[in-house]
Amino acid sequence: MPLPRGLPIVDHHCHLSPSGEGVAAARRFRSAGGTHLFLATQNYASTVPATLEEYREQFETTERIAREVRDLTGVVVFAVVAPYPIDLVHTAPRLGIGAAVELQRRALDLAGVWVRERRAVALGEVGRPHFPIPDELREPVETVFRHAFEVAREADCPLVVHSSDLDPAGFRELASRAREVGFPPERVVKHYARSRVGRAEGDGVVPSYLARRELVRDVSSDPGPWFLETDFLDDPARPGAVLDLATVPRRAAALAQRFDDAEARLAVPFVESVERVYRLRLEAPATGAP
Ligand SMILES: [Zn+2]
Repeated sequence: MPLPRGLPIVDHHCHLSPSGEGVAAARRFRSAGGTHLFLATQNYASTVPATLEEYREQFETTERIAREVRDLTGVVVFAVVAPYPIDLVHTAPRLGIGAAVELQRRALDLAGVWVRERRAVALGEVGRPHFPIPDELREPVETVFRHAFEVAREADCPLVVHSSDLDPAGFRELASRAREVGFPPERVVKHYARSRVGRAEGDGVVPSYLARRELVRDVSSDPGPWFLETDFLDDPARPGAVLDLATVPRRAAALAQRFDDAEARLAVPFVESVERVYRLRLEAPATGAP
């Protein structure tokens, strides 16, 4: 069957850049059947933000791109903001560790304000660098990560985690970190998940799966919550570094061809999981992009 009418088709994690394709990539997503994007902020400048003001400008750029995509393509866009956890590795040598940690904390606080003002729907990406870091930065990274959980708890929003690839034990470790600060593991999302993790195995932490063909097929019978994402980077210098933004709707169409119960399977990542984790009720926009 074709893509079910009225079903939202959601990429749960992507980036768009003013110096990349931007709206053109969103048009490709829309043409393939996509309806909703979760747009994570990123560092758009050649250097990492070294002041709170630079983080504010970064978040505002994300907001502007979200608005342009909405206005020009009809795709619904939700912004996700936070200081990128890897920024600390770059700012610590320049600012000193104490000041670098303080900047991350304040940028997280700012992200929390954005959520409360409904300018963003979640905190992300937060977490830990996916590569080895100097010993003296381990504790600062954990301090900042802990603060991210606290801010998400206060803002009452999901937390989107960046880290190295995690096995089920890694998911459970995130769940216990969440509980330590009184934050529900069910609102912690591990973005860029590359292997299947069941709900019980992961102790409630929600995988956002990279939309590789075989992985999508494997997880499509799982009850959820789980999401699909491309982590599209919109970086012309690195074409093919990640999946194209049209991938999630294409995978959804492939599932619709393959399974009689595709609509029920697709409702898990695109409707039920969004509702459970984000408390957002999505509906597909009326057909016919402006
Ligand atoms: Zn990302």
